Amino acid sequence: MQHQRPPAYEQVIQPGEYLGMLGDGQLGRMFCHAAQAMGYHVVALGLEADGPTGQVAEQYITADYADEAALEKMASMIRSVTTEFENVPAMSLKQLSYTTRTAPAASSVAVVQDRLVEKSFISAQGVPVAAHAAIRNIEDLDTVDAALFPGILKATRFGYDGKGQAVVNSLQEAKQAFSELGGVECILEAKLPLAYEVSVILARNHQEDIAIYPVGVNKHINGILSSTTVYPELVPQDIVLEAQAHAKKLAIGLNYFGVMCVEFFVLDESKLPDGDGQPRLVANEIAPRPHNSGHYTINATTCSQFEQQVRVMAGLPLGDTSLLAPTIMLNILGDSWFVDGSEMATEPDWASVLALPGVSLHLYGKAEARKGRKMGHVNIVHHDIDTLYQTAQRVSDTLHLGAELNRG
Ligand code: ADP
Ligand code: MG
Repeated sequence: MQHQRPPAYEQVIQPGEYLGMLGDGQLGRMFCHAAQAMGYHVVALGLEADGPTGQVAEQYITADYADEAALEKMASMIRSVTTEFENVPAMSLKQLSYTTRTAPAASSVAVVQDRLVEKSFISAQGVPVAAHAAIRNIEDLDTVDAALFPGILKATRFGYDGKGQAVVNSLQEAKQAFSELGGVECILEAKLPLAYEVSVILARNHQEDIAIYPVGVNKHINGILSSTTVYPELVPQDIVLEAQAHAKKLAIGLNYFGVMCVEFFVLDESKLPDGDGQPRLVANEIAPRPHNSGHYTINATTCSQFEQQVRVMAGLPLGDTSLLAPTIMLNILGDSWFVDGSEMATEPDWASVLALPGVSLHLYGKAEARKGRKMGHVNIVHHDIDTLYQTAQRVSDTLHLGAELNRG
């Protein structure tokens, strides 16, 4: 049945109905799990029918994200749709919005698809960002402020997991990196002295309620998230409150509906020039979807980030975001299948990991392990923080994750 208009915002979409997911990856898969646990069905649209999402969605439409006929078909099955990746064409969300509740809206997603537009938006909300300049062609580099070096040159679009960016120490290096990135539009950001990185996950529904999760500390290896650690004493309370306030402001400014993540840098004050006036907390980027740094919510909160996504889509009240116990999330990359220089994939020792206290294993059903590919994650939840760190270290050692788990 083709619906003429999207459901009114106060209207609840009841269990038993279909929810739509644009995407085929692990975030779509975990969304399906949450939706199905609540009695919903999912129709997903994406490129890979046998991917992490396709394996679990009740219905799957194999198509390009801009395929109007495929989107039309999806629209006829659903009354609410979401996405799991920011590069979904904003036009596709727009098309679906004529008949379907979209969370997030195309207009919100469009802002964060482009790092320059995103930075201007964040800054316009009064939230600090790194000093930066638009680099649309190589000549633009000649006129940039020397204070932007050392800097990071990032393609404005399609970058993720540290891909599409390079650290540049000089104008010379920046020119080289600009060419290596293919001469596409870039942003040059000053490289900030980071003390550590945090992220805030929140959900906002069409009733304009906001549910906000605790602040997690993120560590990366080679540009890919390695761990997220969350417990009350970890981050100073003033930083927590400021990060959460900034994230809320950004969600409201974007007129955002759904689950989103804001990544922040906490700067190392000892490395800032005296009297710089530089704020300590700087927003880095916004993800218009559940985020890898929010995977801990599956085991460490009553309502996971994926369940919140379902609740927003269905027009239901938001769930409880409070932390039930201290937690560490460790990402598992395909490298864990190729230890000690082996070229042959060997299944990691899951049994040893699962024998440890408070461990929960999540694998994404990817057929082939490849180096650098996100294959799954482990959540460790424990009331005792020493046990939490010790267990995380043992998981990391067993799976050869190389996670940096020093406390404090
Ligand atoms: P991605 O989309 O790949 O996650 P990010 O903009 O988040 O791109 O950059 C990846 C990582 O690079 C960040 O998590 C941070 O560690 C580092 N980084 C990015 N921008 C800066 C900056 N301006 N100053 C210092 N480090 C940065
Ligand atoms: Mg990032």
